[in-house]
Amino acid sequence: MQYYSLAKQSPVVDFKEATIAGQAPDKSLYFPSEVPKLCAAFFDTLESKSEADIAFEVLRPYVGATIAEDALYNIVSETVNFPIPLVPITNTISSLELFHGPTLAFKDIGARFMSRCLGAFVQNSDRKVTVLVATSGDTGGAVADGFYKVPGVEVVILYPSGKVSPVQEKQLTALGHNIHALEVKGSFDDCQRMVKQAFTDEQVKAKKFLTSANSINVARWLPQQVYYFFAYKQWKQQGQPPVITVPSGNFGNICAGVLAYQSGLPVKQFIAACNANDTIPRFLESGKLEPRDPIPTLSNAMDVAVPSNFVRILEFFHQELPELREMFKSVRVDDATTLATIERVYKESNYLLDPHGAVGYYALEEYLKSLPKDKGFILETAHPVKFPDAIEQALGFQPEVPKGLKGLLEREKKAELIGAEYNELREYLLS
Ligand SMILES: *Cc1c(COP(=O)(O)O)cnc(C)c1O
Repeated sequence: MQYYSLAKQSPVVDFKEATIAGQAPDKSLYFPSEVPKLCAAFFDTLESKSEADIAFEVLRPYVGATIAEDALYNIVSETVNFPIPLVPITNTISSLELFHGPTLAFKDIGARFMSRCLGAFVQNSDRKVTVLVATSGDTGGAVADGFYKVPGVEVVILYPSGKVSPVQEKQLTALGHNIHALEVKGSFDDCQRMVKQAFTDEQVKAKKFLTSANSINVARWLPQQVYYFFAYKQWKQQGQPPVITVPSGNFGNICAGVLAYQSGLPVKQFIAACNANDTIPRFLESGKLEPRDPIPTLSNAMDVAVPSNFVRILEFFHQELPELREMFKSVRVDDATTLATIERVYKESNYLLDPHGAVGYYALEEYLKSLPKDKGFILETAHPVKFPDAIEQALGFQPEVPKGLKGLLEREKKAELIGAEYNELREYLLS
């Protein structure tokens, strides 16, 4: 498989080069040169396949010869070695629970796959790679866990001081070894700006081989499609294609769903559920991309004004707005509705949604009001325990901390406090 840059100003590369580079030299995103179609027999026999078998079959063409088959099989089995159940909430709405991985958010799947691939690529080289990443919360934990103790890889994570939840902070700062946390006295946007600047700093790049680990990296984006097939394996008996609703920020997760659909996965409709950061819902209405400043919300992992993966979604639909609109809807859900949905679903169905899942749930519920014969599922992207304050606001109590997490919360935080100036990051990287 070859990957081309969507700006078409860079040479095509293979999976290994695309993974190591993160983004194309022309600063655009890599895109697969073709989408392999899965045959009818694949779907007919889905129930008898293991998750690792499904993931291997789906991902093998994208990786090609850059990783040997047995090594790739090991990578995918380790990536998906936790449950991903499709849990019914009502007669028409189910929840695909993507939060049973080590850091309790869906980003574990992409981060685990990417870290193992990058680990395989640097294994036989004497070049050490430094993964530099800014996080608003969940990305940092998943990347830290994925790369923990991977030989040849150092990880530097920037996070905004005081703006991540206690669980999220410990996931970033308590591991040690090759995981380094920088607590920045500023906002997430400051962290992102500092990281971006490092990628253009020739002196830093001469000293450290930098790569990024956000969802524009194909090795984080592509593996996310596998759980759409896992969901379908559990859905199939319903006998009709699902409406799939994805709480969306950077649109990497839903973009992986669109990729699965292009490979043959039966889907009735995609709904990208957004919070007050509604650049894409407004785009689908007006045809104009007019980002505003990001607005802080309860579903903070989706506080993104310029969703970087949306260009990939446009490419799937041939840059044709009418074609896109038919298959792909996007709606905005505000914080008050999010809280009311958490409360109502808990009281009516005894199901505890996190704020991101609640945004998705409300969007799907509204859609089904006008098309009552349809059924669907939401992607529940994080465990509610990661957002205790929002749960408390909605329900008056904090979610119970799972056993496995208690140990983590007691571990020591190790982070270096720096100002929101690029020079401070630069000094750290050069020292
Ligand atoms: C990152 C994240 C999202 C948004 O996913 P995108 O792929 O950026 O659209 C949604 N929910 C949670 C909990 C997240 O961590």
